[in-house]
Amino acid sequence: MKFQQYHISEDIKESLDELGFRKPTDIQYKAIPSILKGEDVLAIAQTGTGKTAAFAIPILHHLQAKLERSRGQHRLRCLVMVPTRELALQIAEVFIRIGQFTGLRVLGLHGGVDQESQVRQLAMGVDILVATPGRMFDLYAQGKLPLETVEILVLDEADHMLDLGFLTDINDVIRKLPSRRQTLFFSATITDKIKELCYGISNKPVRIQL
Ligand code: AMP
Repeated sequence: MKFQQYHISEDIKESLDELGFRKPTDIQYKAIPSILKGEDVLAIAQTGTGKTAAFAIPILHHLQAKLERSRGQHRLRCLVMVPTRELALQIAEVFIRIGQFTGLRVLGLHGGVDQESQVRQLAMGVDILVATPGRMFDLYAQGKLPLETVEILVLDEADHMLDLGFLTDINDVIRKLPSRRQTLFFSATITDKIKELCYGISNKPVRIQL
């Protein structure tokens, strides 16, 4: 099975081709159909498996269609929570590359940069935000993050986020999200704590293991 045979937008196929991604990796092969169907997912996958594109491809596909239906009006529809700023930038870059022809706007939040310019970008309209849960909640508390429009939530490296003590921040953000949403949960390891968090915030997730 090649990406060209997938039911995804031609714009996404074109950028995948440009990136040299011809065939899905194992995790992509298993996760993309479920995510395209709108199902919640619990995926156990390590870095290096292609897990970022496994969620970026179907999310970009969904949101491109929504952007077209809303006549190009940007609204924050997807939050990706990650443990570190470096990962936020790296993942935002994957969304930007794969989504380069979709018209969607992606913002990766990171420290060391004037927060004002990031807030200005948010105010101008962003479709996909990638950041740590703590930073997301700070922005929300300042009234600068419209969480009520979010339709897709991704937790990436969930085990690493718990190790870094982000559980309270994660829950603080999730409490503000619409309960009708798609939740995608990625973790390198699966422990009781991870299962408890995942099953608490998702709805009958499809479990995907490599
Ligand atoms: P990740 O596990 O998301 O950090 O991805 C690991 C690496 O695999 C990254 O350098 C990606 O650019 C690359 N990659 C992801 N999906 C594919 C694919 N389908 N074909 C070729 N390379 C890929």
